[in-house]
Amino acid sequence: MDAPTPLNEAQRLKALRTYAILDTPAEQAYDDIVKLASLICDVPIALISMIDEDRQWFKAKVGLGALQTPRGEAFCAHAILNPGELMQVHDASLDPRFADNPLVTGDPKIRFYAGAPLVTASGVAMGTVCVIDQVPRTLEPRMVEALEALSRQVVALLELRHAHRKLELLAAEQQERQIQLEGYQKQLEGLNQILVEQNTIDALTGLKNRRAFDRILSEELSRSGRAGSSLALIFIDVDHFKAFNDEFGHIAGDGALQQIALMLQSQARPYDHAARYGGEEFVLILPDTGMDASMVVAERIRDAMQYVHWQHRPMTVSIGVTSTTAVDGSVSLVGRADRALYAAKRKGRNCVVYLGEDS
Ligand code: GH3
Ligand code: MG
Ligand code: MG
Repeated sequence: MDAPTPLNEAQRLKALRTYAILDTPAEQAYDDIVKLASLICDVPIALISMIDEDRQWFKAKVGLGALQTPRGEAFCAHAILNPGELMQVHDASLDPRFADNPLVTGDPKIRFYAGAPLVTASGVAMGTVCVIDQVPRTLEPRMVEALEALSRQVVALLELRHAHRKLELLAAEQQERQIQLEGYQKQLEGLNQILVEQNTIDALTGLKNRRAFDRILSEELSRSGRAGSSLALIFIDVDHFKAFNDEFGHIAGDGALQQIALMLQSQARPYDHAARYGGEEFVLILPDTGMDASMVVAERIRDAMQYVHWQHRPMTVSIGVTSTTAVDGSVSLVGRADRALYAAKRKGRNCVVYLGEDS
């Protein structure tokens, strides 16, 4: 007679799946438990049996060859109906539930069965630790106790295994998240780099920054090369700016740089490019401009410094000017403007020096 299906069958099967024990290879810890069960109860057959949807599967066994049997033949399918109790069948041939069972009528000719249900913390029975004999018998109370203890040990092993798997899953998730985070980090760095490259404005003065200057100069140089026109470069450096900072403080220095930037913008022609080269140095690119016109602009800038409404005290600038024809590269042009500026400093500051192509 097939065992009735437990009322909590769906929940029971779900729990069984959660432990992921079905069809796993034999393990020493479980093998030892069935060995102990057979020794303690002095029987030839002992099993750890899991009751699956339509089969019973053995995690460990002694005295039996089969890996699994149909659920309909399983004594253990009856034992799990009462999770709180060890089930004993003293003589299966006399028990109406088992008398016609092929395991009783044929091999291995079961007469005696005792199964201690494997009960999880949530109270469902997944299977049993069971012992079997081919002669009728009754377990002594100490054997019953031992079998129940062994079934609790199996559940403890299953719980450990479950916890271990959960940890492994968590670790794998964690690693995946870490990889994902590193991916985001790389993306952010890439975007940041693009932002830096796209940024062309100097934050303090609102003028074009050094990066924009480099790009515009090389573009304007190629354009003037193609057009065969001249291009001028004006380098402007504030005189004794360190002393100004020292006297009035860095914030005042910043304010002065902002005033100079405004003045430069007002003096530059619409097609000129004013930029902050760095620190207290500014630069003007003048397309289609030769020596004379660039000197006029430079002088105008030097002169305009007197008319700035200085917050603290008047300041002056030294200016280096150069102009070019198509043969100049941006590096040689910048170098020459810088030398012109240096010459203006040596000359006593607050003046303009021009250096031409041959310098
Ligand atoms: P010189 O006439 O020879 O050019 O003398 P200088 O003092 O202007 O030149 P130096 O290169 O010795 O000093 C430049 C100073 O500019 C030093 C630095 O602290 C200051 N400076 C550079 N950038 C900034 C800035 O953004 N804000 C302020 N407040 N000061 C700056
Ligand atoms: Mg300087
Ligand atoms: Mg200076």
